[in-house]
Amino acid sequence: MRIGRRYMRRSCGALKSWTDVLEVNGIKIEYTVEKRRVKYPRLEFKTGSLLVVLPENMKSEEDILEKKKSWIIRKYREIQEVANKINESLDEDEVILFGRKLKIIPSEELGIDLKEGKISINPESEVHHRKIKKQIRKILREKIEEAVEEYSKKLCLKPGKIFIKNQRSKWASCSSTGNLSFNLKLAVLPEELIRYVVFHEVAHLKEKRHSTEFWNIVEKEFKNFKVNEKRLTEYWFYINTNYKLPLFNRRRVELKDENCDNRVLSSLGFNHP
Ligand SMILES: [Zn+2]
Repeated sequence: MRIGRRYMRRSCGALKSWTDVLEVNGIKIEYTVEKRRVKYPRLEFKTGSLLVVLPENMKSEEDILEKKKSWIIRKYREIQEVANKINESLDEDEVILFGRKLKIIPSEELGIDLKEGKISINPESEVHHRKIKKQIRKILREKIEEAVEEYSKKLCLKPGKIFIKNQRSKWASCSSTGNLSFNLKLAVLPEELIRYVVFHEVAHLKEKRHSTEFWNIVEKEFKNFKVNEKRLTEYWFYINTNYKLPLFNRRRVELKDENCDNRVLSSLGFNHP
C-alpha cells in the first residue's frame, strides 16, 4: 500500500483536515481525513468517497488505512458496481436527468423535453452546455421549492432562503439561519430521491444533528430512508465517475468542516451547520 502525495490541504491553525490518495493493488482511492473530537478513528464512505475520522491527538491515518485495507477495497467495489450498473443501463446516446433516461439529440436548437425523454443539444458547444445547465437549474429549483413548501408546512417550520449551488461534497446543507442549499447534481436523481433530500434538510431545521430524534422525524415520512441514503451514495459515486454530460464540475471532493453525529448511518452527503 502506498500513500500518495498530498495534493490538497486546508488548515486553520493546526492541520484539521486534508485529502490524499490511497493506492491498493493499482486502485487509487481518494480520501479525506478530518480530525474531530472522537475517541477512536473510524472510516466512512461519505457521499461515495472515503472519509477518515481521526481523534485530534492522532497524527497520521496510515495505521487505520493499513488495518482496514480490505474493508476499504470491498466497500469501494460495492459502490462502484452499483454506479457502473446505472451507467450500463444507458445507451451511448442516453443520459439520466431527474431519474429519467433522456436521448441526446444532436441539434443546434437547445431544449429539454422530460415528457418525450429528449434532450436536444450540440454536445460540442460550450454555450449549449451553459444554457442547458441554466434550464436544468430552473427545473430543479421549481421541484425543490415545491417540496420545501410542502414539507415545511407539514413540520410547521419556516425555512429561510433556498440556494441551488454546485457543491462538491454534499447533496444539501442548512445554515444556522435556516437557509437551505441544494446541490445542482440533485438534477440527476429521481424525483422521489430529490424529495427525500429536501425532507432530510428541512427536518434539520428542527433537529440539527443526526440524532435518534432526527431519524424518527425522517422515518415518519420516509419509511425506507435507509435505502434512500444508500441510493444517494451510489448516485453520488455515479455522478462523480461516470456522468456523461459535463454539467457539473468534476473537481475533487473538497474538505469541509463538519461536526455531526453519524451513528445511525455513516453520513451520506449532508452537511450541518
Ligand atoms: Zn443530515
